[in-house]
Amino acid sequence: DLKSYSEATVGSLNLFNENKKVMPYGVSSNYRFFEPYPLYIKKGKGSRVWDVDGNEYVDYNLGFGVMEVGYGNERIVREVSKVIEEGTILGFEYYRTGELAREISRRYGAEMVRFSSTGTEATMHSIRIARAFTGRKKVVKFEGHYHGSHDQLLVNVNPPNPKGKTMSSLGIPEETVVNTIVVDWNDIDEVEKVMKEDVAAVIMEPVAMNMGLIPTKEDFLREVVKMSKEVGAVVIFDETKTGGKAYSGASGEFGIKPDLMILGKSITGGFPLSVIGGKREVMEVIGPGKTAHGGTYNANPVSVVSSLVTLKEILTEDAFYHMRRLNRMLVKGYEEIGEDVGIDVSISSWGTSGTVFFSDEVPENYKEFIATDVRRWFSYFFACLEEGVIPMGGFNEQWTLSVSHSEEDVKRHLEAAEAGLKKAKEGGMNFS
Ligand code: PMP
Repeated sequence: DLKSYSEATVGSLNLFNENKKVMPYGVSSNYRFFEPYPLYIKKGKGSRVWDVDGNEYVDYNLGFGVMEVGYGNERIVREVSKVIEEGTILGFEYYRTGELAREISRRYGAEMVRFSSTGTEATMHSIRIARAFTGRKKVVKFEGHYHGSHDQLLVNVNPPNPKGKTMSSLGIPEETVVNTIVVDWNDIDEVEKVMKEDVAAVIMEPVAMNMGLIPTKEDFLREVVKMSKEVGAVVIFDETKTGGKAYSGASGEFGIKPDLMILGKSITGGFPLSVIGGKREVMEVIGPGKTAHGGTYNANPVSVVSSLVTLKEILTEDAFYHMRRLNRMLVKGYEEIGEDVGIDVSISSWGTSGTVFFSDEVPENYKEFIATDVRRWFSYFFACLEEGVIPMGGFNEQWTLSVSHSEEDVKRHLEAAEAGLKKAKEGGMNFS
């Protein structure tokens, strides 16, 4: 029963009822909606957010993994305020963009970079760049991997019953995705079958984070890179999430260099910015009269300055030490609570993130992920909300730590998780 959720969130319900008259499902992104009605948030500070009813939550969704700098970070507020006073959008290239490009190059090993505003745009462009570079059409993606909301990769992201290729949205013509090939994650034999001379690109989240957090099998990435190299396909690491969950992203952590990488979310400090970076020879196909890449808001001064402050001053190696230590505490706590409560849960983690799955083992791919008990996840989720903790952004998401989270916040999370797992043990809810 959701009695206390509905008693505590009357303001959210009222907004939902009003907003849905003018906005489908009352939200601006499908992922913000959940049954029976979503929360409407008023503000955040540090590790906390407050909803319209004034309920306070320790937040581990962090804007779907964006706000590792903590809400209302004073350094960002100070620097960004100056940029707003100085004009916000200036049309020509902002004088500090190269500084950010060099910092990203240093930290992530990309030889050249271009900026867009969202992960969606960056992955969309990366495919075009790979096709332009190779002169080929086919793109290999993995089931359950999400690369944003554009047509060509919105395939087998969240099919209820995956069987062959399934569009994950209405309105996508089959012709649009004839060149998209879908393969199971973590299955190198399947990859080998599709790796042919006509593959332009293989795109993946180097650690899957849109079917919960699913760890990557040892050597899988190295094998994929090797096979791609053999056929001359461009390897694209979509590090929109992973790029900010370890100091130099997954490629740095694993010591594997893709041909192209995408960054976004937490490296921005909270403003729209994404990165397409990679090897010089691949990136050099971009240009007037060659391969199109544009955007009015690309590398806008507000986002550039926010990202510079974030990378150089906030998400430092020390900051990652702090966040990853708290992450390990969280994982250990979950494992102990799962055992004490006596419920089948499995915990995955990587970098500053982790996921609780309602299954006895961590899934290895999308098919195993959708076999987990999502109904119990919702029981757990609402119980946590009632305890003042947003534990994860959704059943297919993960928690993220920020520089603002403290040991005390981890304790709060674990207390809520205990209530959540107890509730989940009683049974599941019929939402998905
Ligand atoms: N790629 C990955 C791996 C993502 O997780 C996301 C967003 N969750 C995107 C791309 C799309 O990013 P955006 O929402 O900024 O378009």
